[in-house]
Amino acid sequence: MSLTIRNAGDAMAICEKNGWRLHETALAYELAKGTESREDILTRMGRHFSAMQESIKAGLVGTEEGACKMFRDDAKRLMAYREKKMTLSGQTMTKAAAYALAVMEINCSMGRIVAAPTAGSCGVLPAVISASMETLSKGEAEGVQALLTAGLVGVIIGKNASLSGAEGGCQAEIGSAAAMGAAAVTEMAGGTPKQSFDAAAIALKSMMGLVCDPVAGLVEVPCAKRNSTGSAIALVSADMALSGIVSVIPFDEVVMAMSKVGRTIPVSLRETAEGGVAATPTGRRLKQEIFEP
Ligand code: SF4
Repeated sequence: MSLTIRNAGDAMAICEKNGWRLHETALAYELAKGTESREDILTRMGRHFSAMQESIKAGLVGTEEGACKMFRDDAKRLMAYREKKMTLSGQTMTKAAAYALAVMEINCSMGRIVAAPTAGSCGVLPAVISASMETLSKGEAEGVQALLTAGLVGVIIGKNASLSGAEGGCQAEIGSAAAMGAAAVTEMAGGTPKQSFDAAAIALKSMMGLVCDPVAGLVEVPCAKRNSTGSAIALVSADMALSGIVSVIPFDEVVMAMSKVGRTIPVSLRETAEGGVAATPTGRRLKQEIFEP
């Protein structure tokens, strides 16, 4: 069976026709490739889900000194703060921000992460999905469904724009991750396919134009904290969509706009570490200290 999904419009039409939720359409899309059984796909996604959970746990414990060059223990710090204080941005959001930092610390220290959609943006999905699952009292099955939905949104962005910072700036990496996460947890919270794509559109618009400027060329600064703030954007976008707010610009048009914006971002701001915060006096000093001590 072939299943053509070029964009969100196709995905929503398939959901409507079959009475499916987005994760069911995502599963059908994967099945239609004809390379895996339903069980194989669910097992594979379950493995990704477990690896994400493990990277959160490991990152909250922390890593050895020097494992990351420019930060350490920020996840632990934020978790300790949220346990002691009334946070301004709320318990779910601060937890997601800490989880994203935890996964990024594991990434920086060459530990095991799931690059979804990329290694540089690997904190967002585990953070948004896990924090939402805990708030909504959901189990692993819903976590796997969320990954399927997120994956489908990522496929659509990849087909029509880009998921690479070198090609489209950080909007393509963390922006896409935030859109994927927003759609996934909107569905987890009971949202419709349209609400999921509204949430994804709101998240992607909020990160449009974001440049890629890793200090010293390492995926640490500003990447780790951007994973946290990207997670926060995903969560608030999901809440907006769930409240009934719609994205005035439909998701598919936002993706096309993101693609066009990506092509206009100068090379110095597309993973070359020559512009943005990488080119600040502190960014240059850190590069020198790390590579020419
Ligand atoms: S700044 Fe660049 S390297 Fe860092 S996460 Fe964003 S796209 Fe990836």
